[in-house]
Amino acid sequence: MAELVKDLVCGMEIDPATAAATFEYQGVMYYFCAIGCKDAFEADPEKYLSGGGGGGSMGKKRWWEFWK
Ligand SMILES: [Zn+2]
Repeated sequence: MAELVKDLVCGMEIDPATAAATFEYQGVMYYFCAIGCKDAFEADPEKYLSGGGGGGSMGKKRWWEFWK
């Protein structure tokens, strides 16, 4: 089993070997399920790196909003 990495844009877990797109940011390689996810990350990396991640595919809700 390959080690999975997380697509920070949509929250999906993907295999780096089959990732549709990759993007290196601050010396770290990030993997994405689709070109569109890579483009979104590239446009605003800090948005995805500074919290709000891990919230599933909706993307807009913060984790605490799921409790409401
Ligand atoms: Zn994705």
